[in-house]
Amino acid sequence: MNSRSGSQAGAGDLLELVRSGRAVTRGALQQATGLSRATVGQRLDRLFRAGWLREGAGGPVDSPLGGRPSITLEFDGDHAVVLVADLDTRHARAAVLSLTGEILAEHSGTLVIEEGPDLVLAELGRWFGELLEKAGQRPGEVCGIGLAVPGPVDSATGRVVQPPMMPGWDGYDITGRLSRALTEHTGAPPVPVLVDNDANLMAYGEQRAGHPDCAAFVLVKVSTGIGAGVVVDGSIYRGIDGGAGDIGHIRVGADALCRCGSYGCLAAVASGGAVARRLAASGVPAASGSDVRDLLAAGHPEAAALAREAGRRVGDVLATVVTLLNPGVLMIAGDLAGTPFLTGVRELLYQRALPRSTAHLDVVTSRLGERAALIGAGALVVEHLYAPERVEERLRALGV
Ligand SMILES: [Zn+2]
Repeated sequence: MNSRSGSQAGAGDLLELVRSGRAVTRGALQQATGLSRATVGQRLDRLFRAGWLREGAGGPVDSPLGGRPSITLEFDGDHAVVLVADLDTRHARAAVLSLTGEILAEHSGTLVIEEGPDLVLAELGRWFGELLEKAGQRPGEVCGIGLAVPGPVDSATGRVVQPPMMPGWDGYDITGRLSRALTEHTGAPPVPVLVDNDANLMAYGEQRAGHPDCAAFVLVKVSTGIGAGVVVDGSIYRGIDGGAGDIGHIRVGADALCRCGSYGCLAAVASGGAVARRLAASGVPAASGSDVRDLLAAGHPEAAALAREAGRRVGDVLATVVTLLNPGVLMIAGDLAGTPFLTGVRELLYQRALPRSTAHLDVVTSRLGERAALIGAGALVVEHLYAPERVEERLRALGV
């Protein structure tokens, strides 16, 4: 059942089995790992001493080994907190999360990405300090930070790579600056910072929350820009350089100038920003994807017609995406995600893609809405910190 068994299964492997729900009693852990009752007990004791495990609220269940009913074990999602933030071009959202993804405090406001990383990350540090106070959590309880950004990220270094919408951020040490900003505003010790593309983290959050059994999941975010996140077998697929899913700059043969400096990109004709420009040109006040979202919510007919046309443009590109990846779920998220845009996507997608690629495809809208990237960022930090290969080192650092 488990890839590592016998004497190789460490405390981290037991924690993983409990967290995933695959084995939640001492008996089930013995069975899954082949470890003796005494060894399982010793390893669990360390996890209890660290405060990472607790007895389940559900009461005893029947043991797979027979005999007395067993006490269930569960991951203690309250022994630390994660700080998360989602940066958009002119707006940001930040939160304190429990380790199981519960939002303990949240804030959103104006934060202009073009002001550069130093100012923006210093301000985020201030937000985090206020959010911790609001949530009643001490700075020392923060175990990590997760940050979503609207650009391609090299996940090994946490740096953005030639981001069209983030001038001044290329190659900047985001993780170092954000950890320092937290310390400056709260006195918290340095913590790990994970940075990823916003569409990747939205996809990760949505897949885990609503489609955990979907082995090939694609999310397309259509806001000021256009990006896609791909989750395969439960993990974010990033490609070799973190560039996977950056579909907004595929050339679709139009002559509009894109923010990346090229002409004819998908984002230049079908993003929220592109729809806003066309509305403004015909006298409707709109400057951004969120303005278009407000117009769509109010049932503005010209906005709806342009959103449907944008949906057709995106659907044409998605026909290729779906043919290549054969996903079970294609989620449309972001400012334009609504009935007119989805109608346009479906029109072109089903017309252009092979029937076999779409036979079992669900085209859906977001469940987590504006919080998707926050939830995904929190989950990524927790999966990183409590991964079996990191648990041993962290337990030793705690002295247990
Ligand atoms: Zn472009």
